[in-house]
Amino acid sequence: MTSAPETPTTHELGQIKAVCLDFDDTLLDSGRAARHSLRELVGSDRAWPVWQRTTDQHYARYVTNEVDFDVMCVERTQAFFAAFGEKLDTAEAARRETLRMAAMQRAWALYDDAWPCLDWLRASGLRLAVITNAPSAYQRKKIAAVGLADAFDELIISAEAGVAKPDPRIFHAACDALGLRPEEVAHVGDKLDIDALGAARAGLHGIWLNRGGNQGPAANVPTITGLHQLPEFLVADLPAVPAPAQPPRRTAELVGR
Ligand SMILES: [Mg+2]
Repeated sequence: MTSAPETPTTHELGQIKAVCLDFDDTLLDSGRAARHSLRELVGSDRAWPVWQRTTDQHYARYVTNEVDFDVMCVERTQAFFAAFGEKLDTAEAARRETLRMAAMQRAWALYDDAWPCLDWLRASGLRLAVITNAPSAYQRKKIAAVGLADAFDELIISAEAGVAKPDPRIFHAACDALGLRPEEVAHVGDKLDIDALGAARAGLHGIWLNRGGNQGPAANVPTITGLHQLPEFLVADLPAVPAPAQPPRRTAELVGR
């Protein structure tokens, strides 16, 4: 386990009063669990790049409300096997997806740096939230399964908010739920466009979690390579966000829709 540094004073944290975090591939090692589930389903993970590519394409359709989550999961499985020449009917694809999902849920686990980071943030007096693009019941089940049901002040889930990252309204909904202005809130996530740049466009401090530096550098985006770097980054390196000329638009009505 990675140990967190000493907690700072409020003064050292400057204008930051809350930290929002993405969930999948930020706190939860979703990639490891998904890879494990693929091994359980087809006996190896050699086709992992195909699964990832298929998931990216199909999850985007879910996020933009083109397709229901459960339907997306079945169609993704059909597309994955079709890539290897196997045509599955809906019932067989659903059966295989049920097996794969069960295997994935058994493998759900946090990254080692998640708890030390959350402990440090909480001990620093910061408020905490999750902002995640996902279906409601599934994501709440996942968050509870890894022991984080009570770890956050707010859970902002796209299916409940009625909008998804990178739409600025979901970031503003989080700020409203926290009772803070966007410039008082940082958001950390593994997706450069959806998390870091989306948050920055909404007026928050967007921070890109480029785990291990595996995705190469991005210009002009505050970047960390692990959550163990977040405490020092918040204290020392985060540039100030200028206050907006206009008050942020109220979007609290979006939450719970
Ligand atoms: Mg993510």
